[in-house]
Amino acid sequence: MTDTLTSYLDEHVDDAQSLLEQLCRQPSVAAQRWGIAEMADLVELLLRETGFSTQRLVVEGAPPVIFGELPGRSPYTVLLYNHYDVQPAEPFDLWVSPPFEPTVRDGKLYARGTSDNKSEFAARLTAIRALRAVHGQLPITLHWMIEGEEEIGSPHFAAIAEKYASLLQADGCFWEGSGFDPTGRPELGLGTKGLLYVQLDVQGTGIDAHSGAAPILPSAAWRLVQALATLRTPDGHIRIPGFYDAVLEPSEAQLAAIADQPDMDEQIRESYKVEQFVDGLTGVALREREAFAPTCNIAGLVSGYTGEGSKTVLPSRARAKIDFRLVPDQHPEDILAKLQAHLEAEGYGDIRITTFSHADPVVTPIEHPFVQRMATIAESYAGKRPSITPIGGGTLPFLGALRRYVGVPGLSVPGNAVYWANGAHGRKHFSPMASGVVRGCRP
Ligand SMILES: [Zn+2]
Repeated sequence: MTDTLTSYLDEHVDDAQSLLEQLCRQPSVAAQRWGIAEMADLVELLLRETGFSTQRLVVEGAPPVIFGELPGRSPYTVLLYNHYDVQPAEPFDLWVSPPFEPTVRDGKLYARGTSDNKSEFAARLTAIRALRAVHGQLPITLHWMIEGEEEIGSPHFAAIAEKYASLLQADGCFWEGSGFDPTGRPELGLGTKGLLYVQLDVQGTGIDAHSGAAPILPSAAWRLVQALATLRTPDGHIRIPGFYDAVLEPSEAQLAAIADQPDMDEQIRESYKVEQFVDGLTGVALREREAFAPTCNIAGLVSGYTGEGSKTVLPSRARAKIDFRLVPDQHPEDILAKLQAHLEAEGYGDIRITTFSHADPVVTPIEHPFVQRMATIAESYAGKRPSITPIGGGTLPFLGALRRYVGVPGLSVPGNAVYWANGAHGRKHFSPMASGVVRGCRP
């Protein structure tokens, strides 16, 4: 980075922080439609003030996607993706300071949305402003789309991507997320797992019964746990026939990237407070399992009485929430069909399946020229070779639509000015951002 750019950023540290505070002060909770319209206005205004021409991408029933264009000296175009909505902040009483009143404590800024992903929006905006102030027109053209429904699974994103596919064309896309690892290596994320989220409902008796009737009445709770037990062996192998059929072997380059990642075993063990990982895995084997294994996770399980003390009841209903994280080339529709067929075959055809979300896994190959180019830039910037995550455990619901309709290759690049183990999505008192890090998104 040039000295002039560095000194510009140093002089404008406070501006960057107040920009982030301004964004965090405006609630924008997609699940509650709280402050979404105001937030869209603010985002559009900030883009315009930074020199972007803007327009609103709209489809029926969705908050607008704010789209900005900033022509550069070359037509080479990078599409930036961010979202202006946040997760709900409830329960409010667990916050040390109110979620929409940004507060600095111990050098960290606390507010809902700091880490996911208003800090990233603020950091990108600050970087673009600095580059324009110091160098004038940017060398490349920027397209920027900022949506308002990411935290509820981007339900209208596919319609937007289809309708505006030609507008969204670019040589590559920077997704949200990613930063620097604890040793200062820039982290590149090349994809996310897919998701199939289902709810399983068992109806036993018509009403809750006295448990004295257990010898003669069907039990919804037992039926559900027995059905769940058919889905997975105790060691984690998923028993749904055909579940693994479409799974691709990781490539040599992907395995090499995993082997080259820093060992975080200790930190992860500490943060989850576990003695050891599944199957006693450690190091490279642990990281490979985390990256490439599809899962069948019980996200929620409820039936009968779960309060204080005892209640001798035979509950009429039982419910489980299951999320399947999928890897290339598994598809949620196919897995859903296989789940249905499996339950049917095991004699559990009466279990009602409701689907909440589904998303394809999306992975950009390491060998892609856009990835290689960004890896080179990241290395020359940070002075350290990047740490590459071939596929992350989470799911960005918009990626599937972006790939299907726009076909633009993408990756997560450092720019999310947050530190590891912040409380993104958490119910608790954090979502902190090291305020020092916003200084022009440096490591
Ligand atoms: Zn996000």
